[in-house]
Amino acid sequence: MSTNQSSNKKLGKQTNAIHFGYDKDSQQTMSVPIYQTTAYAFDSSLQASNRFSLQELGNIYSRLTNPTCDVLEKRLSVLEGGAASIVTASGSAALFYAITNLAGSGDNVLVANKIYGGSTTLLFHTLKRFGIKAIEFDIDDLSTLESKIDSKTKAIFFETLSNPQIAVADIEALTSIAKKHKVITIADNTVATPILCNPFKHGVDVITHSLSKYISGQGSVLAGAVIEREGLNELIKDNPRYAHFNEPDSSYHGLVYTSVPLPNYTLRIRIALLRDIGATLSAFNAWLVIQGLETLALRIKKHSKNALKIAKFLASHPKVESVSYPALESDRYHALAKKYFYKSYSSGLVSFVYKGSEEETRKVVDSTSIFSIVVNIGDTKSLIVHPASTTHSQLSESELKEVGILPNLIRLSIGIEDFKDLKEDLEEALGK
Ligand SMILES: *Cc1c(COP(=O)(O)O)cnc(C)c1O
Repeated sequence: MSTNQSSNKKLGKQTNAIHFGYDKDSQQTMSVPIYQTTAYAFDSSLQASNRFSLQELGNIYSRLTNPTCDVLEKRLSVLEGGAASIVTASGSAALFYAITNLAGSGDNVLVANKIYGGSTTLLFHTLKRFGIKAIEFDIDDLSTLESKIDSKTKAIFFETLSNPQIAVADIEALTSIAKKHKVITIADNTVATPILCNPFKHGVDVITHSLSKYISGQGSVLAGAVIEREGLNELIKDNPRYAHFNEPDSSYHGLVYTSVPLPNYTLRIRIALLRDIGATLSAFNAWLVIQGLETLALRIKKHSKNALKIAKFLASHPKVESVSYPALESDRYHALAKKYFYKSYSSGLVSFVYKGSEEETRKVVDSTSIFSIVVNIGDTKSLIVHPASTTHSQLSESELKEVGILPNLIRLSIGIEDFKDLKEDLEEALGK
């Protein structure tokens, strides 16, 4: 079991995304091998027992660790500047582990109001049945956040660049409140990616990712990750909020996590939650994500440049009422994008309000030809969707208004095709 401690943090992100964590000289293959195995052979029964007791770190069974997944974990850790990471079967599984590693029945978590729809249902509905209460806070107005923290608050969760609202969080304002109360902050960095934003630099404790989006990049795989920052052990040690890390775990022969000299947060996810729930990433899917990660930096920059040009084109179009895109100087989140994102690059997510009825707006969606009507994001291919009738169709009219999903809103995930072709496609669909 690797702790993903990195010695190559001085290398650039592009170099680490391609080389870190894999020793090609010993393996002699340029491509990271796919370790398609359920279990691992031990040299001796002593070695087997030492691995179970954590006296020796190493592979036991692929529900816990796998060498292909390990390379991906190391690369994600180094790109985010973290101490250790765990890859999971999906982004949703990553969030489930990130939260339930801290909170149990009777506890609460504070959750930003602008987040991914699947995260909303997980936190507000499914976890409620496990006795964990999600309490909403306004990501655009943090003045009431502190008053919502009580002794049962185990985590504060938000998205750095939210999907689909395209809101940018004031990360430092948020983490400074959490630090006062020694509450762990969890940031979903899926849309910004570690190339545009590094939440650990701004005080975040834990990062989650859906690797299914920009990181794999081609819409071919589901995967997720949880990453912990350097030094998180000190926040957990003797912290009454996290007593279960400081007391013997009877499911692991009385192990006290804070007594182990490894990053404690991900250690507990691996040896307790992955062990028992098993939403592990397969070696093959890890390998696919590794291929995507190699070109992430190139792609996210191209997505962002294309999207900014599209946003500017839309903003000047007579049939467009308004455009949301943080890299636009007129956007309400522009100052935050400037502060937290590399060169204010804001990914491929753009939304706009069409000057027309719901029916006319849906016609625009149906009239594009290069754009595909898809609810995913982060694909190399450009995608278009009408949120009010799809991703947000379960919401009532007043709820739709509250979250800003108007009947004439269109969301785009701008791909890396030629800008000229995307612009002409939209131009034709928008009409005169
Ligand atoms: C897609 C997404 C998720 C869920 O990830 P899956 O890999 O689809 O399970 C979580 N958060 C954000 C921001 C997402 O876009």
